[in-house]
Amino acid sequence: MRCWCRLSLVIVLLLAGCAGPPSVVRETEIFGTRVKITVNGLPEARAAAVIAEVFTYFGSIHRRFHAWREGELLAVNRAIATQNLPFTLSEPMAVMLVQAADYSERSSGLFNPAAGRLFALWGFHSDKPPTAPPPPSSVKQYLANAPSMAAVNIQAQQLRIAHPLTQFDFGALAKGVALDAARDMLHHHGVRDALINIGGNILAMGANNGRPWRVRIQPATDAGAVGTINLADGEAIATSGGGERFFIHDGRRYHHVIDPRSGMPAKRNRVATVISAHQQHAGAISDAAATALLIANDEEAAVLLRRFKIKAALRVSADNQLLPTAMMQMRLAL
Ligand code: ADP
Ligand code: MG
Repeated sequence: MRCWCRLSLVIVLLLAGCAGPPSVVRETEIFGTRVKITVNGLPEARAAAVIAEVFTYFGSIHRRFHAWREGELLAVNRAIATQNLPFTLSEPMAVMLVQAADYSERSSGLFNPAAGRLFALWGFHSDKPPTAPPPPSSVKQYLANAPSMAAVNIQAQQLRIAHPLTQFDFGALAKGVALDAARDMLHHHGVRDALINIGGNILAMGANNGRPWRVRIQPATDAGAVGTINLADGEAIATSGGGERFFIHDGRRYHHVIDPRSGMPAKRNRVATVISAHQQHAGAISDAAATALLIANDEEAAVLLRRFKIKAALRVSADNQLLPTAMMQMRLAL
């Protein structure tokens, strides 16, 4: 017995020796979800301080872009509703809007962050889940004069809007933008190897002690666990689905990703996962593209993946078919 103990201790020490300084992991709750950052290669106190700085920054992003609590986004939306324009935007808000307009165009409007009024109509602008869908007449009225990002005009941080019913909502983009900001902050502090996870929106930096970072694709579907995947340096993975924010009314399930064309929760797919390898905006692109892909049919999916330069993607259709791209199939070894 004693002998076995000593042997196992030696193995543990050897493993620790190979692995270099231990990973420093910190977790917290921001964006209404679990946030976890793993940093390798820094002394613990330094890594912890850097992670704390990133968490503080996440808090500021969360407040600035919150869709129903007081903050800059609410001020922007109020100015549009009262036609008190032009509105002087902060730099992060201007950058967010320009990125959002680009991604909306690339997704042919499936990703539509100008549709905040529609998401509010569905009752998702609240800390409590809604209890019933909106009356069909109000959705119909909205669709008759629906805003899009095409009406947004920003010059020198001055916002003008051609469509008075525009209300911005960055619920499908803010976590991705936060991932990119975190990567830049960590780089700035000399971190090369890290994994940043904001409730399943994940960005990998470098590697995990010489091996690729490995993440599990969230199932959130009857299709069962899909598998694990290696993320290369700089890649971000995002999943969108109706599994987390939803309500049930009269036995029917309604979730929080709305198809801007029907004004109804997206029906075609249960889950969509994408991996972006974009150097600067992998987090933001993966977030927006996953939401758009959840709404897309086969043809739309092919177009938007091409426009977002995404090779690895997976949809689980409403009837539980796994629909991976060839690259995703290879990487998952399905
Ligand atoms: P999650 O926030 O659960 O990770 P998503 O990234 O798909 O999921 O974002 C969903 C959120 O985005 C919704 O709660 C809503 O605020 C907003 N949203 C819903 N439908 C759309 C859409 N078609 N385009 C842009 N944003 C959307
Ligand atoms: Mg998204």
